[in-house]
Amino acid sequence: MSIVDSMKKTMLKQAGKFVGSVVRNASEETLYRLFATVSAVSKEPAKGGLKKLANMAKEKHPMIQSWRRVFQNANPKCVEKVMTNLVINEFALGEKIRQEKMLEHEVVLPKLLVISPTYACNLNCVGCYAGLYGRKYQLSKEEVWSLIRQANELGIYFFIITGGEPFVWPHLMETLKEFNDSYFQIYTNGTLITKEVAQKLAELGNATPAISVEGFETDTDWRRGRGVFAKISEAWKNLREAGVIFGASVTATRLNHDTIVKEEFWNFLKENDVAYSWIFQFMPVGMNPSMDLVPTPEQRYERFFVLDKLRLGGDFAFVADFWNHGFLTHGCLAAGSKYLHINAKGYAEPCVFQQFAVDSIREKSLLEILKSPFFTAYKRMIPYSNNLFRPCPIIDNPKVLRAMVKKFNAIPQHEGSEKVLTDLAPELDKLSEEWAKYADKLWYEYGYAEKYPSKRGIYDFEVRMNRYANNEEKLAIDKKA
Ligand code: SF4
Repeated sequence: MSIVDSMKKTMLKQAGKFVGSVVRNASEETLYRLFATVSAVSKEPAKGGLKKLANMAKEKHPMIQSWRRVFQNANPKCVEKVMTNLVINEFALGEKIRQEKMLEHEVVLPKLLVISPTYACNLNCVGCYAGLYGRKYQLSKEEVWSLIRQANELGIYFFIITGGEPFVWPHLMETLKEFNDSYFQIYTNGTLITKEVAQKLAELGNATPAISVEGFETDTDWRRGRGVFAKISEAWKNLREAGVIFGASVTATRLNHDTIVKEEFWNFLKENDVAYSWIFQFMPVGMNPSMDLVPTPEQRYERFFVLDKLRLGGDFAFVADFWNHGFLTHGCLAAGSKYLHINAKGYAEPCVFQQFAVDSIREKSLLEILKSPFFTAYKRMIPYSNNLFRPCPIIDNPKVLRAMVKKFNAIPQHEGSEKVLTDLAPELDKLSEEWAKYADKLWYEYGYAEKYPSKRGIYDFEVRMNRYANNEEKLAIDKKA
């Protein structure tokens, strides 16, 4: 690294710390100036992103107002870590490293890594893919740390920890401390977040729990167990008092649909200081996959309008509906295009829901896995449909999943996972065909096709290089950028 680059890196980190310290009480005008300054010393594509944030602050965009509200209520350490670890390390500096490594290794790299260090859990929720294993499958501390180090080397500083229940894994807090320049989102049932745990998270600052909630007490306790809703409320209170930024993870099912499309539910989350929300549609995966809870196409369509309004509304820092917002990510994120999942057995799954794998971290490095024929083939095919409202090879384009598993002899990761390719195939074909009608309506009649045109092969290395050569895309490493 040149002296100039090194100075810029230090400046960016200092700027991040400074922003972190003042942002809690900053006006939109101050935020605008801060983001504009950081943008001025960054390169594409981080530069463009930061400039966009600066303009959003200038225009007093509802999302910026919402972030300000979140920051005002948060512990200063948590705010500082969002700025230094997520905005600076992952977004501004990490993007440049990822692109340098992309060129060096000739592979498009993901932005984040999802790790399930354990499948063990203290609950036994209806339809969970991991709940029945006990402590049979765990990653060691050394395995997880080696993975994070390898990812950091590639410029990845954002990690999602899921499971199983991450707080059951004995090395979680130690890991957050060891990698205090990375940022972690922890998908948790929340029941183990005591006052002490919340306090420790506040001191570390570099993790945000996303707590599973299915609706109000009836919906949540039906799926997660009696008394769980009360324990979630307790976890929210503990986190709020400690100033930890936390979110909600909502599984949309056929049964809780009516609850989660109601304003009342979202007001309730807001009143409880939930900062952000991810909505995951129930998927027929794991042991004995079933279609019983999968939302109907009509429900998915209705949910889109409710959640897109929430996404843009400013009540939350962000709201994302994992499948219905595929148009914001060029479709599927799997197989290292934007992320991949290392499961508790050590296997590298294309994504959390696509539970078939070829390679294991116990045999290959992270980079070798990202360059594997299985992942390369997936990335070359994204998006699987030109309509980005049909992003998924499991529920929207099931023929793709069947063909890929067959071609690469991918191993089912749970007993019964293969049913998604066999017993459930007719129902999945029908579901995808029915959804296609709604998806086409959204894509063509609501103008998304023009606004978010699909870019074939966007996650393939050669296609990306061609796009760069044709000035269709900028790179952070480009001196002109
Ligand atoms: S495979 Fe489906 S669930 Fe997984 S990232 Fe792609 S679209 Fe999402």
